[in-house]
Amino acid sequence: MVISKKVVLITGGGRGIGAATASLLAKENYIVAINYKEDEVSVKKLLSSIRLKGGCAEAFKADISDESQVEELFSSVIFKYGPITHLVNNVGVLARQQRVENMTSDRINYILQHNVTPYFICAREAVKHFKRHDDMSNCAIVNVSSAASRLGGANEYVDYAASKGAIDTFTIGLSLELAEYGVRVNCVRPGCIYTDIHRDGGEAERVSRLAPQLPLRRGGTALEVANAIAWLLSDEASYVTGSFIDLAGGK
Ligand code: NAP
Repeated sequence: MVISKKVVLITGGGRGIGAATASLLAKENYIVAINYKEDEVSVKKLLSSIRLKGGCAEAFKADISDESQVEELFSSVIFKYGPITHLVNNVGVLARQQRVENMTSDRINYILQHNVTPYFICAREAVKHFKRHDDMSNCAIVNVSSAASRLGGANEYVDYAASKGAIDTFTIGLSLELAEYGVRVNCVRPGCIYTDIHRDGGEAERVSRLAPQLPLRRGGTALEVANAIAWLLSDEASYVTGSFIDLAGGK
C-alpha cells in the first residue's frame, strides 16, 4: 500500500497537550484519531473546533490501561480510516503529591499501568498497522515523557518521574528496533505546562507556583509542546530518531 494520507492516533487527546496536538495536526492535514477516557464534553468541544476549521477528526473512547480496549481502539481506527501512519503516545497520569516513604504498591502500580505499559502496547499495535504500508519510512512515533525523568520528582511524584524515565529508555530502544524499517521514534519532555494534570496531582495552581523559579520565568503552554510533537512527526525531522526535545523553560 502506498501511503497517500497521514492518519495519526493520539492517546489521551481530549484535553491538554494531546488536544493541542490534535488541533495542530488537523490543521496540517492529518486525519486525527483522538483517544480519550471519559471527558465527553471536552472531546466534543475539540471535535467541533477542528471540524469548524475544516479538519478531519474523530473521537475514540478507550481506557488505555486496558490491553483489550487498546486492541479494540486500533481496530476501530483502522475500520474508519485505514492503517495509521503516526502515533502520539501521550496519556500520562499523576497521583497526589507524596514522598516515596508513604507510597503504596497500589499507587505505584497505577502509575506504571498508565504511564509505561500502554506506551509499549500502543507502539506494538501501531507497528502492526505500519507494516501494512509498503514503505514505512513515512511512519513515526512520538512519546510524551517529562522533564521529571531528569529531575526526579522529589517530594511530589518520584513514581511518576520514574515512569517517565522508563519512557525515555523505551524511546531509545524502540527507535533502534524500528530504524531498519525507516520508522522514527522520538520523545518530548515537557516541564511545567498549564493543563489539568496538576489538579489531579493535588495542586491545580502548581505551574503558577513554580513558574517564577524557572529560567524563562513562566510556565509553558500545551501548544508549545504540540509544536515540537508536530515537528518530530513531520518530514522536516526525517533524519531524527531516538531523540529528545526538552520543553521545560530552561530547567
Ligand atoms: P491532562 O490535561 O490531564 O489530559 C490527560 C488526557 O489523558 C485526557 O484527555 C484524559 O482523558 C486522558 N486519559 C487519562 N487517563 C486515560 C486512560 N486511562 N485512557 C485514555 N485516556 C486517558 O494531561 P496533560 O498535562 O495534557 O499531559 C499529557 C502528557 O504530557 C502526559 O503524558 C503527561 O505526563 C505529560 N506531561 C505533562 C506536563 C504538564 O505540566 N502538563 C509536564 C510533563 C509531562 P479524559 O479527558 O477523558 O479524562
